[in-house]
Amino acid sequence: MTDNHLKIAVIPGDGIGKEVVPEGLRVLEAVAKRHNIDMRFDEFDFASCDYFQKHGQMMPDDWKEQVGGHDALFFGAVGWPETVPDHVSLWGSLIQFRREFDQYISLRPARLMPGVPCPLVGREPGDIDMMIVRENTEGEYSSIGGKMFAGTPREVVLQETVMSRIGVDRVLKYAFELAATRPRAKLTSATKSNGISITMPYWDERVAEMAKDYPGISVDKYHIDILTAHFVLNPDKFDVVVASNLFGDILSDLGPACAGTIGIAPSGNINPEREFPSLFEPVHGSAPDIASQGIANPIGQIWAGAMMLDHLGHAEAASDIMRAIERILSEPAMRTRDLGGQADTQMCGKSVADALD
Ligand code: ATP
Ligand code: MG
Repeated sequence: MTDNHLKIAVIPGDGIGKEVVPEGLRVLEAVAKRHNIDMRFDEFDFASCDYFQKHGQMMPDDWKEQVGGHDALFFGAVGWPETVPDHVSLWGSLIQFRREFDQYISLRPARLMPGVPCPLVGREPGDIDMMIVRENTEGEYSSIGGKMFAGTPREVVLQETVMSRIGVDRVLKYAFELAATRPRAKLTSATKSNGISITMPYWDERVAEMAKDYPGISVDKYHIDILTAHFVLNPDKFDVVVASNLFGDILSDLGPACAGTIGIAPSGNINPEREFPSLFEPVHGSAPDIASQGIANPIGQIWAGAMMLDHLGHAEAASDIMRAIERILSEPAMRTRDLGGQADTQMCGKSVADALD
């Protein structure tokens, strides 16, 4: 589904979001020009703590009308705990997008790039190149449960895990389809069916059932405990990894951490059918400790732009950005301080835009 006319809602948010988003746009504009993509950007000031301070809420009542007609949301970071508690800013913005736009996939690449120091000893670029697919709407993060005998010694709390066939199958289908586009065509499922005796065996069952439709994909499964160990010890084993909401939450922090700095990792909250806009953002937050200094690494935001183009059907433009990122990361002088370089945010963004070919 490739569309040459794209309308992108740009939401810089808070802190370094406001510094790295312009660099993401700089690169998107440059790549759009080269590929003759007519990309329009509309910027919004809501989903930020500044907006909250003026209006007493994170977003206007009609936010859905304002951004719902766009092809995607290009998001910076939200959160400024000095003025608004994190749970208020998060629930008032990102969580609303995720729910209302049915972004049921959370997608995070973990790829070791040249020039990025790897915390795992002896690993080279090429050794880590995986996509973590997390179920983003149900599973362990249901709000079903409660407290009984509150305040007494017999107090009991419980919280249910919810897995629906539709919910499980749609994330698995996305993961299988993604694996089918990748050279290794490999899918790993995260489970814990040896300890969680109802929901996780169901997850395994659905994986086995769907695997029948994808004979070209090699499928394996690991229990989450040993899987986290393998992420650290044998990250080269993995290609696409699919997981429930909780396990995916853990793996999608662990994966990018194994591949180096937080400053370069991107993330997509995706509605694959494009019935609603998907949201693309860097993994990092608003980083109050380095905000307003112009030193944040913009690569995570720029990479998020590449993911967005890929989602919107412009795979070649997306690969161009990825090649430019690799080129810039290989040049010590172009790296930002978190990677041991001297470049500031704008220099780094500009050098990626200039490195497009
Ligand atoms: P979140 O709000 O998403 O949970 P956080 O606020 O706990 O995240 P971040 O904002 O991601 O954390 O920052 C964590 C650390 O990483 C900080 O010390 C920050 O300065 C650093 N950091 C984050 N993003 C970048 C970046 N793009 N460039 C350089 N350093 C960064
Ligand atoms: Mg934060």
